[in-house]
Amino acid sequence: RLDDHWLRLPNRWDVPVEICAGPGVPLEPSAVDEVLAVLETAGTLERLAEAALGHTGPAPRITRIALTPDFHKGAGIPIGTVIETEHALIPQAVGNDVNCGMRLEVTSLDAGAVRPRLDALERRLRHLFFEGGRRIALTPLQREALLRDGLPGLLLTGRTGHWPGIAPGDADDCVDRVHASGFPVGTAEAFADWVRSAGGEAGRASGDSVIGGIGGGNHFVELQYVSRVHDAAAAHAWGLAPGTVVTMAHSGSLSLGHQAHATALDRLRRSWPAGLPRPSNGIMPFLLDERSEGDRRRYLDAFGNAANFALGNRFFLSLTMRAGLAAECGALSSRLLYDAPHNLFWRDGDRVVHRKGATPAGGHEPMAGGPFAMWGEPVIVPGSMGAASFVLRGRGHPRTLASACHGAGRRVPRGAAAAGSEADLDAFLREFRVVTPLDHRDPRVARRPDVMAAWRRDLKQEAPWAYKDIGPVVAGLHGGGVAVPVAELRPLLTVKG
Ligand code: 5GP
Ligand code: MN
Ligand code: MN
Repeated sequence: RLDDHWLRLPNRWDVPVEICAGPGVPLEPSAVDEVLAVLETAGTLERLAEAALGHTGPAPRITRIALTPDFHKGAGIPIGTVIETEHALIPQAVGNDVNCGMRLEVTSLDAGAVRPRLDALERRLRHLFFEGGRRIALTPLQREALLRDGLPGLLLTGRTGHWPGIAPGDADDCVDRVHASGFPVGTAEAFADWVRSAGGEAGRASGDSVIGGIGGGNHFVELQYVSRVHDAAAAHAWGLAPGTVVTMAHSGSLSLGHQAHATALDRLRRSWPAGLPRPSNGIMPFLLDERSEGDRRRYLDAFGNAANFALGNRFFLSLTMRAGLAAECGALSSRLLYDAPHNLFWRDGDRVVHRKGATPAGGHEPMAGGPFAMWGEPVIVPGSMGAASFVLRGRGHPRTLASACHGAGRRVPRGAAAAGSEADLDAFLREFRVVTPLDHRDPRVARRPDVMAAWRRDLKQEAPWAYKDIGPVVAGLHGGGVAVPVAELRPLLTVKG
């Protein structure tokens, strides 16, 4: 233990492995074991380089690992892990929901004006999100532009004027206020799958039921209000006055990311050098050399398509929320504060930073010339559907590789959380409002105890007690010098897929 906010994990590879934690943040020993197993990839990289015929040049290696306060066990690599490498790319260090992220919009509404409308809003949002009320007509050209070029592709090709909720500023903000607004890719291979699953025909615009979907589990669109300001100057600059209503959208690339991930693993398995044992930790990296270029290209195209789709998906989730608010609460403006990815890699020459369930938290310098030059990068840290969430400003701390946590982090595995008490769930439902495909107050649902029980079980997996206490997590970020709290947000209503 080095001091109150940092732990360093000694390891035989001498890779700096640091945990930003802090008093009161529970750390999961099995996730620590998982990190130590990840380090075996250092050996995999050495063996791969030896096996690669004609591999000259610098050795591929892991140069640093950072764990954010919300870290917990994942599939092979914990959620909340940042891995920096040289000459190597690790798809599994991104996770399979490529470009899952958070999008935060600040509206012109006040909580006091929205509260009396929540019953009507709940019905409206259920209709829009789950009962076919959302008709997002994209032309084939727009779909392809999104997959190839991201949000600028989608919003700068025109013909967006008829989308409910769209505002003239959206096209400007999609560059300045999105961490990585577009991943230029050569092909839009995922396009055909998307058109098919949307039930559309090539060459014709159709109501698209695929994009703008929340996805299941911990993905959500939440209406919140600013309940407390921690940094008055930054909060003022970002429009976060007390009582202001904001919308937070959390979603990823739906099936496209899973496909990209599967493509990577398939390519890696097929091109694995004969005679070299498969890594005992199950993690297969790409070397950044010329021989693996073709396999990597396949993955990068699929990855880019998925990452771009996710940006569009979060955009349409926000538009749908805007449309619901406009219908029930009157005219409003809603402006993007920031869209931040938490499952992604960043390549800069030979150096690659992978974030799996960790969000960028850059300081002033990387934000130079944009709207965040003064305050640093907005860091969005949701708590749960029954707790506070936070907006912070990043400080670009080198020990976390300029990263912060992307949530409070799961504290209890899904199964254990589902076994939580029915009385606790009832208490939660009395205090908070959750919009799901099923309306639990509908008398027809009450006559189906099996349906009701399944719904309650699912909800308990996402209940506040399934997640860490957000207070110490945010205090850990603050105390460790990673990010400064700007404003605290409380939920008014959560839409859960
Ligand atoms: P992920 O699924 O990306 O790993 O984690 C997302 C984070 O969002 C979780 O760690 C949790 O703290 C937070 N979270 C999950 N569900 C909700 C929700 O319904 N509302 C809010 N505000 N936060 C949530
Ligand atoms: Mn996700
Ligand atoms: Mn996520």
